[in-house]
Amino acid sequence: MQNLRRWTVRTARALVLAGMCLTLASFSPAAAAPEPTASPLARLRAGNERFVRGAEGAVLPAPETRRAMSDGEHPYAMVLSCTDSRVPPELVFGAGVGDLYVVRTLGQVPDRAVLASLEHGAGALHVPLLVVMGHESCAVVKAAHDGTHASSAHIEHVHKAIRAGSSHTAAEQQDLRAAILGNVEQVINDVLSGSPALRAAVTGGHLQVVGAYYEVGTGTVVFSEPVGAATATAHK
Ligand SMILES: [Zn+2]
Repeated sequence: MQNLRRWTVRTARALVLAGMCLTLASFSPAAAAPEPTASPLARLRAGNERFVRGAEGAVLPAPETRRAMSDGEHPYAMVLSCTDSRVPPELVFGAGVGDLYVVRTLGQVPDRAVLASLEHGAGALHVPLLVVMGHESCAVVKAAHDGTHASSAHIEHVHKAIRAGSSHTAAEQQDLRAAILGNVEQVINDVLSGSPALRAAVTGGHLQVVGAYYEVGTGTVVFSEPVGAATATAHK
């Protein structure tokens, strides 16, 4: 795995704008299966480990479980990820119906509707964890960094948002993985700087935010260190 320290530093720099002390240190691979009281992040790690091993298929609810869901939703994590068909969060994290609150946009670029969706998840649903997940060989990040002509004003908007998180050195601009990680960082920054409610949830210890990178070829998700207090699991 390449050295991700620069991604860490850039994220820390930008999140200072949100008034938070941040100690992103490194990515780490999925871990073994968690204890029953495991944190949401541990559950995601364990689910991804099962996915990588091909240990189980789709997690389908029993009829009685499905009926109970009509009373409301209680997801344990939010995932903001790309629309890419190779990166379905529920499958990647071995999750079932009602487990994950998923928002997907091209290049996981947030707009006001995305911020509203995340605010609803953190506020009304008390979801204690937000994962912002980029992925290997993301075509829109590559297109943005290659300067590929955008076929519409909307796609150009996404390209510009992605380029805002680009690395500054010529060497890094050649590195698609660094560009994808830079975009994850930028999205986290945009989400927290754009939403006072989410920022307050993080500083209040109710929400953790973590960056993630999905390796299409292996199925493995690697995570950054979480942003926000460990007490963010208190709701679940
Ligand atoms: Zn993508």
